[in-house]
Parts: sequence; structure tokens; C-alpha cells
Amino acid sequence: MTDSTPLPPHDWPEFLPGWVWLCGAGPGDAGLLTLHALNALRQAEVIVHDALVNPEILTWARPGSRVIDAGKRAGRDSPKQRDISLRLVELARAGQRVLRLKGGDPFVFGRGGEEAQTLVQHGVPIRVIPGITAGIGGLAHAGIPVTHRDVNQSLTFVTGHDPAGDTPPLDWAALARASQVIVIYMGLRHIGRISAELLAAGRPGDEPVALVSDASLPGQTVLETTLGEVAEVAASASFAGPVLICIGRAVLLRQALDWQAMAAGHPARNPDPLGRGKPAEET
Ligand code: SAH
Repeated sequence: MTDSTPLPPHDWPEFLPGWVWLCGAGPGDAGLLTLHALNALRQAEVIVHDALVNPEILTWARPGSRVIDAGKRAGRDSPKQRDISLRLVELARAGQRVLRLKGGDPFVFGRGGEEAQTLVQHGVPIRVIPGITAGIGGLAHAGIPVTHRDVNQSLTFVTGHDPAGDTPPLDWAALARASQVIVIYMGLRHIGRISAELLAAGRPGDEPVALVSDASLPGQTVLETTLGEVAEVAASASFAGPVLICIGRAVLLRQALDWQAMAAGHPARNPDPLGRGKPAEET
């Protein structure tokens, strides 16, 4: 889509100078951006984006806009969160139209809430534009429905580490009992400890697990394994991009719903992976 392609008719908000729009860019594929995000890109004067934002999306920015990479990936030199927030305040106070573009949804494990709070505390007006979070849209891209009537009535999103970099202080036993499907963001580093906690709490060793990297992007890779083996599989895998971990029988459905493989001409591995006969829909 070029800059001159009109947006569909809608009451599109005007980006006023001195405002910060905090916006989700979706899980990866540029097509998974919202129209509100595109409207923002076409008006913003400054775009401050994360490492996870697909560079293709930035080519849709208004010509002449300034693009600032605030990427902060684990293990690399990166600006401090506080510095990023204060930079946003500074840019807004200078009268710029500032677009803060973050991977997925800005309020899901992305510190968007903290940035928004800093802006509000400094009297900077904000708008929040939700995005498709990787833990839902990325997994859908990989053929994993995060809810399915035959699998789960609950779903939990977990971050793999706390602010200090340790495993988060969660009640893993309670989680193991309560949530049939668990989706872990940033979970690769501590998956050994997390899987051990879940196994100790009674989750079965043969429970299906998927490691999905670069979801919705051309380099998307999916490793299917089990809770008993995921630590070893994760340790020996080398992923180029971010990784989501999905634990639960939802992963089995990929045998039927890997729509990308099917689009490429491969038949479904197993149209009835839950062994239910007819889909619940027909019964
Ligand atoms: N706000 C983002 C999450 C940021 S935390 C969102 O709503 O999606 C960063 C983590 O998100 C990564 O470590 C990874 O676990 C996950 N993630 C984001 N994009 C991903 C992608 N395309 N593929 C796999 N995992 C992804």
C-alpha cells in the first residue's frame, strides 16, 4: 500500500502536535497492522519503534518522518526503558506528533503501560492503538488456535522472566491446575525451570508443546515437542527471531490446522488430532 492509497471511509482521528500515540504493530507480518496504525503512520512526524517491529511497516510512514530505533533486545546494548519514556516526553513537548510503535499489542508484556503512565504523569496527551498480540495472532499463523471447545476453557499468558531476569514468582502449581493452555512470552531462557515446575505440579510429560519462532514472518519456524522434552529441544535449537512457547493440547490441532502447509499443497497430517470423530460443531 502506498502513501497515496486512501484509507477506507471512517472517522479517522487527527494526530495533533504534542501527542504520543502508543501503537501495536502486530506480531510480524505487515498485513496484520490495524488501519488505525496505518492512519497513525501516515501522520506521525517521529516514529519511535522497537526491535520487533517489521521494517516493512516503517516504509509506510509519512515521507520525511524521523524514525528512531529504540530496539532493546536481551543481551545487546540498548536504551534504558526510562530513557525511552523520557525521550517520548521530550519529543511531545517539542510539539512533535510522536508515534510509539511496539511489537504485538502495546499493553501485552511490552511495557506499554509503563510508558503510557510516564507520559500521563508528565501531562502528555496519549492515544492507545491496540495491536494483534503474538500469543494469539502469531500462534494462529502457526495453525494453533489458542482456544478450542474440545481443548480449553481457560488460557494463560505468562512472561518467562521477571524484571530481574529470573523466572517470574508465579504459583506454578496453581497455574498447572487452572490453565489448560499456557502461552509463554520470552520464555526460552527459563523453559527448563518452567517445564520442571509444571511437571512437578502434575502436568503430563507427554503434553504437547510448540516453540514458534518468527511467527507470521517468512522465516516462521515451529518445533513441536512435549513438556518432558521441551527443555532439551529448546537448548539444542537455534532460533533467529523471537520465540513463543505454547503448552497444551491446542498444539495437537496444528496437525489439522497448519493452514500454511496446506496452502503449499501438503495435506493435513491428521484431520482429527483430538480423536473426536466429527468436529464438535456438527454434534
Ligand atoms: N507486545 C508484544 C510482546 C512483547 S514481549 C506482543 O503483544 O506480542 C516479546 C516476546 O513476544 C518475544 O520474546 C516472544 O516471546 C514474543 N513474540 C513477539 N513477536 C513474536 C513473533 N513474531 N514470533 C514469536 N514470538 C514473538
